[in-house]
Amino acid sequence: MAKKRLLLIGGGHAHMVTLANLQTFADKGFDVTVIQPSDYHYYSGMGPGMLGGTYSPDDIRFATRKVVEGRGGVFLRDKAVSIDADKQVVHLENSDQEIPYDVLSCNAGSYVPRDTVSADSPEIFTVKPIEGLLAAKQKILSISKERSINVAIVGGGPSSIEIAGNVFQLGQQRCVHKPNIYLFAGRKLLSRVPERIGNLARISLTDRGVHVLEGTYVRDITAGQVSLENGRSYDADVIFPAVGVKPSPIFARSGLPVGPDGGLLVNRFLQSTAHANIFGGGDCIYFEPEPLDKVGVYAVRQNPVLYHNMMASLEGAALQAFDPGGKYLLIYNLGSDTGILCKWSLIFSGKLAFRIKDYIDRKFMQKFQSME
Ligand SMILES: Cc1cc2nc3c(=O)[nH]c(=O)nc-3n(C[C@H](O)[C@H](O)[C@H](O)COP(=O)(O)OP(=O)(O)OC[C@H]3O[C@@H](n4cnc5c(N)ncnc54)[C@H](O)[C@@H]3O)c2cc1C
Repeated sequence: MAKKRLLLIGGGHAHMVTLANLQTFADKGFDVTVIQPSDYHYYSGMGPGMLGGTYSPDDIRFATRKVVEGRGGVFLRDKAVSIDADKQVVHLENSDQEIPYDVLSCNAGSYVPRDTVSADSPEIFTVKPIEGLLAAKQKILSISKERSINVAIVGGGPSSIEIAGNVFQLGQQRCVHKPNIYLFAGRKLLSRVPERIGNLARISLTDRGVHVLEGTYVRDITAGQVSLENGRSYDADVIFPAVGVKPSPIFARSGLPVGPDGGLLVNRFLQSTAHANIFGGGDCIYFEPEPLDKVGVYAVRQNPVLYHNMMASLEGAALQAFDPGGKYLLIYNLGSDTGILCKWSLIFSGKLAFRIKDYIDRKFMQKFQSME
């Protein structure tokens, strides 16, 4: 009898436990293939810290290819572009080969929409993929050797404040000419979280000389310039669009049922509502029982359930339901070894907040890097 085939799209945060246990699938006689555009998966929670210089690229990435190949799986460095659920195959960006599956799990993450970006230019770095932050850092360091540099961050959410604070740190520690940093926050900085968090972030950034512009939206981003709806324009050498994320477009493109944001529509078993052999986790899904925030915390919590359900689906056993759990801890890295911590009504900023985040993030990395 032909071996059953498990196919993973993306080796992101929700597939970590599955990757760690890949050998178990091989030992049970299943073929496993993982598709990912890079040999590494970057931990986004530490991405801004890498930009600021607290972490090296090696500190924040998992060697996905090495882990997969070391555990009896096949790694394909490519991008999945669509899924044909009737034929049970996945199509790739750089090859005509169709990749077949019996069970498919999707952890393809999210991307930053480029709606306001009207020019593709080497000065524009969306905050995802995280690899782009490394290129941005090199650009800032290289221009600032010669002259002062303007850095623009577009968006008023958590990733914007983290980028702004860490560009400041980079400037202080590594730049000959310190950058001028502009954060275009839209209507209001951190408008979707309790006001106290926004106030703490605003104080932290403006105290360090970051220009935080609120009350107007960015209309257009072109090479070297950010134009606002109020008619003003700002020159910028490096621009970070950080306007929130959307789930990977592959599901809508494939005609699979999706949620209002375009994420793969899944039930409480993290299973496609239309195809019992397709699962998903992390930013790329829309969890039908209740919409989830696009935070790594949920992807991490989904790990054991996804692992169980992939195996159960291959073996014909019962599936487990995913419980999103209660409130989660959030800590923003604001650079200069400072952060803002929030859980329930506990909100504070300063060095302790960053130390707690650094401890948790490094522990997470050690746990999964130790499988390399
Ligand atoms: C700057 C920044 C900071 C953040 N900080 C935090 C934080 O501190 N705490 C927190 O909880 N959340 C944080 N988040 C949110 C968090 O990053 C996401 O919720 C988390 O990355 C989701 O994990 P994921 O595995 O679903 O997606 P991703 O981390 O995006 O991983 C997806 C993986 O799939 C691969 N992939 C993508 N497309 C394809 C394709 N077509 N085919 C095959 N493979 C593909 C990618 O290469 C990647 O390896 C932050 C986000 C950003 C942008």
